[in-house]
Amino acid sequence: MPKIALLPGDGIGPEITAETVKVLETVGRHFSRSFEFATFSIGGDAIDRFGDPLPPQTLEGIRAADAVLLAAVGGPKWDHNPGHLRPETGLLRMRKELGVYANLRPVRAFEPLLHASTLKQEVLLGVDLLILRELTGGLYFGEKSRKPAVGGEVATDTLVYTTGEIERIVRMGFEVARTRRKRVHSVDKANVLESSRLWRETVERIAKEYPDVQYDHILVDTCAMQLIRNPRQFDVIVTENMFGDILSDEAAMLTGSIGMLPSASLGAGVALYEPIHGSAPDIAGKGVANPLGMILSAALMLRHSFGWEQEATVIEQAVAEVLAEGVRTADLAGPAEPTVSTSRMGDLIVQRISAKVPIV
Ligand code: NAD
Repeated sequence: MPKIALLPGDGIGPEITAETVKVLETVGRHFSRSFEFATFSIGGDAIDRFGDPLPPQTLEGIRAADAVLLAAVGGPKWDHNPGHLRPETGLLRMRKELGVYANLRPVRAFEPLLHASTLKQEVLLGVDLLILRELTGGLYFGEKSRKPAVGGEVATDTLVYTTGEIERIVRMGFEVARTRRKRVHSVDKANVLESSRLWRETVERIAKEYPDVQYDHILVDTCAMQLIRNPRQFDVIVTENMFGDILSDEAAMLTGSIGMLPSASLGAGVALYEPIHGSAPDIAGKGVANPLGMILSAALMLRHSFGWEQEATVIEQAVAEVLAEGVRTADLAGPAEPTVSTSRMGDLIVQRISAKVPIV
């Protein structure tokens, strides 16, 4: 029985976690699967209760789990704390502990929500892409320095990648593409960066192992432009840390709502699943948050950690169908549209799954 460590965190976290558990339990009942859930404290909640954003019992819990499902951490209450007592520190420490090196962010345009995007609906219709971002190398982790210099200071960041780091993320890109439309775009800046030239050579070598997958190199600036001009051309985009950080936020806007987007962080061991949004302190405790980003993250967990493709797809279809029927949480609704609460949205997804799959 898979053990799932639940980390509700702060703000809207507990509200959306409750709905996600409801959905997982329903999937379990309908597919004769069982889960063992254990809830642990992280972020601001853990600072308040244990004086540590990632207390030892949480660390033990995630080490013993088969997958980790996190809502979000943070809030104004802890904004002025020193570094080691900030909610995000708990998150970063956990990612490091899990050794996750790949962030997967699927971006799918849900037709009934396209009006909420700032882009034209005809550009967005049918968008279904996946950004695979390297998480542990590049500029964010290279050597940094700051020294006095004539007229001020000089600051340096170093962009470092090893062949091994590139190989494992690129290989994951090709593997994931095989389960999708078999198309990879590798993003780099090989016209100016040496690290990108190593990246490009590595992609070409790995690509030979995947003759069934079509691949292209694309410069990061061109990719940023093409994501807005014609996003449907993309299937899997694989890229280094900072390019992925920027492109994945750009791509998130293709769907129109931050509340809808799931993510998975994968490594060699236990994986971490979380919606891309934060803890939304402005709406916490009001029962109006959109739980779909976390529910879709749970679907990714079923697919990537347990290989339960059918179960994952049922959740994704239920979400698409409920949206198609016009059900909206406040963040998704137009000015005159009626809205449902967080728990009503969870209930409707549960009902939809129950109607689709007979109990076996
Ligand atoms: P945010 O994503 O929490 O909120 C941005 C806006 O989107 C807000 O208006 C919020 O109400 C809305 N929103 C977000 N998720 C929503 C949902 N599921 N349903 C409905 N509306 C939703 O970003 P922020 O306001 O910049 O940050 C708030 C806190 O969250 C900060 O403390 C920040 O550090 C933290 N944060 C945490 C994570 C994480 O845990 N991975 C990620 C980003 C931000």
